[in-house]
Amino acid sequence: MRILLTTLLIVCAISASAQEPPSIKYALVIHGGAGKAPSTPEGIAARERILKQALDKGHALLKSGKPSLDVVEAVILILEDSEHFNAGKGAVLNAVGKHELDASIMDGRNRSAGAVGGVRTVKHPISLARLVMTDTRHVLLATDGAEKFADRYPQIERVPNEYFSTNRQRNNLERAQEREQKDSKPTDSSQMGTVGCVALDTQGNLAAGTSTGGLTNKQYGRIGDSPIVCAGTFADNETCGVSCTGVGEDYIRNAVAYDVSARMQYKGDSLEKAVHDILNHPRHQVRGGIIAIDRRGNITMQFNTAGMSRAALDSTGKFEIHVKD
Ligand code: ASP
Repeated sequence: MRILLTTLLIVCAISASAQEPPSIKYALVIHGGAGKAPSTPEGIAARERILKQALDKGHALLKSGKPSLDVVEAVILILEDSEHFNAGKGAVLNAVGKHELDASIMDGRNRSAGAVGGVRTVKHPISLARLVMTDTRHVLLATDGAEKFADRYPQIERVPNEYFSTNRQRNNLERAQEREQKDSKPTDSSQMGTVGCVALDTQGNLAAGTSTGGLTNKQYGRIGDSPIVCAGTFADNETCGVSCTGVGEDYIRNAVAYDVSARMQYKGDSLEKAVHDILNHPRHQVRGGIIAIDRRGNITMQFNTAGMSRAALDSTGKFEIHVKD
């Protein structure tokens, strides 16, 4: 009898472990903005190439045991350097033909966070956001104050505002202004291109970051959701890490990034359901996309716009890049 029982227990244990998915040691997800895919094959290929480069970089760092904060910053640096995304080089132009950049980063270990809003000469806003987190008692520094803060750090590279400009974004501004003159109501840019990243490292720590030039033809001085912790970015090891893209005002009004975490914590929702319900809310419109990772390494990438450039990988072999679908 005893032998029979033991055999039965062993069989049960084996079949239970066979059903359990392999545990995820690290995970990484990136977005390159909600909205339509680029209209040319070259534009699509360029975005795919950069996303692959960013994924590979993040993968190498995670595999070698680097902390998620370093991974998020390193991945976003690559995207800020690429003119194919609306962050750093290639950022959109505001209504007066200038660039004002926003970024934030958050540490899931203790909810510490740093952000910059409306910076004009900082080549890598994500790195300045990280310094706000580590070197000040504040969370968000904006415009002249943020520029002055940047002056303290020789490692923070500075560029003239025109460095960020591209012909593509000059054309986008012209088109947006023509449309708005005809329509007299502001347009929501159809191709956005903000960038964001969430990582779970081998220590089980989550981090998230977002960087953007904002919305084409935005009013001078407008700050979006990307540098607003709890709106565009959030991370907490107990629940998830989140980075958002879309119409920033929707994300600020609805505290979207935090809401993903709150739904998991207070309602017991899965990550997938929390994000789905926010993007499909019957009353509170949120136009855009959300990427997130939960503490177990589950990844979600959802959007309600025409598309969203995105990429993801994890330690079990997942590796995906989507630009045109
Ligand atoms: N959320 C960004 C903003 O409103 C734009 C974007 O995601 O493309 O500034």
